[in-house]
Amino acid sequence: MDSKRKSRFLKQLAPTNDAPYLIDVAKAEGIYIWDQDGKRYMDMIAGVAVNNVGHRHPKVTRAIKEQLDKYMHVMVYGEYVQDAALQLAENLASILPDHLSCTYMVNSGTEANEGAIKLAKRITGRKEIIAYKGAYHGATHGSLSVSHNEIKKSAFRPLLPGIKFLTFNSREELSAITEKTAAVIIEPIQGDAGVRIPNHDFMKALRNRCDQTGTQLIFDEVQTGMGRTGKNFAFEHFNVAPDILTLGKALGGGMPVGAFISSHKNMQLLTHNPMLGHITTFGGNPVIAAAANATVELIKSEKWVEEAESKGLALEKQLIQSPEINEIRRAGLMFAIEMADFDRVKKVVDCCLEKGLIGFWFLSCPNSFRLSPPLSITMEQIKEAGKTIIEAIKETA
Ligand code: PLP
Repeated sequence: MDSKRKSRFLKQLAPTNDAPYLIDVAKAEGIYIWDQDGKRYMDMIAGVAVNNVGHRHPKVTRAIKEQLDKYMHVMVYGEYVQDAALQLAENLASILPDHLSCTYMVNSGTEANEGAIKLAKRITGRKEIIAYKGAYHGATHGSLSVSHNEIKKSAFRPLLPGIKFLTFNSREELSAITEKTAAVIIEPIQGDAGVRIPNHDFMKALRNRCDQTGTQLIFDEVQTGMGRTGKNFAFEHFNVAPDILTLGKALGGGMPVGAFISSHKNMQLLTHNPMLGHITTFGGNPVIAAAANATVELIKSEKWVEEAESKGLALEKQLIQSPEINEIRRAGLMFAIEMADFDRVKKVVDCCLEKGLIGFWFLSCPNSFRLSPPLSITMEQIKEAGKTIIEAIKETA
């Protein structure tokens, strides 16, 4: 990238770290991103589990264009009847259990979790929240409070009081959930902890304990939702449904979105004591809702979700042949590839980038790198990706 452009970027746009990727993006389509010099990258991250239907899927861009020709923002969330949001809510309800029938649209994953936590407090009249070690739920104060990584939290205290962290997958610790617990918030498969998959027994016991104590069970599927793990929603692997579900990332098909979903009876509580219990200006934005609706349609009509497991397994089998890979944790097309340490991971990810393949880190799992390609990736592209990663491992050994 030319150095003037680089310094403009670094000066004008607030940074989040000392070593950003700095791909100078010109165009993206399907599973590829091109930079300004015409270099093509295979996007094996999909904007961190966002572009499940690929970049700029024609059905998503068409829905956006059609909506643009009618109207954009007309009013804050919840006041006017707007087709795109209505269709999206109905479409989501059609792929969810009956009690998850009522959708509140917000603008990001962290906001979805903020809304879910508020709703749980309002439903139960309780204050205490239980979250899980390793969890990541977002960067705003409430979601950060229920996220576990202390390094990311300590500079921003005080955070929400009354939060307890339990060991992920521990049945023994479930007794800490009591009649005082408003909500348990959990990722049914932990993402930023490095793809941690719990036992079926644990998930069943968690559901039972929440039922016994009248606690709201919140599943954060911001990362695992919309087919990423080989089911529409990760909770389907365990046959256990939440009281409140949160979504984000892939739901928008490349547009910024979040949603929390519960029963109509629960959601009704946000209309009184206090009235306007949760509000947002842009939630339900018609252009974004149109994109999300087209995305849900694609998830329903294409075979990508059912194929995610076989594609994921094919890549796993290819990669595990490397003696340098210690472990692969995977659900569908959501991968953590574990190596000796962060130095080794960094060399491999950097080399992949040079070779035109994008991988990425985890916030809380330094010895692993993540892969979460578009679900629309083909078997041929999977093979090519596996070959490139293996080459990068060998060349940096
Ligand atoms: N929850 C989970 C499980 C996530 O992985 C993320 C983001 O990575 C979030 C919440 C926060 O979403 P957002 O970055 O859209 O606020």
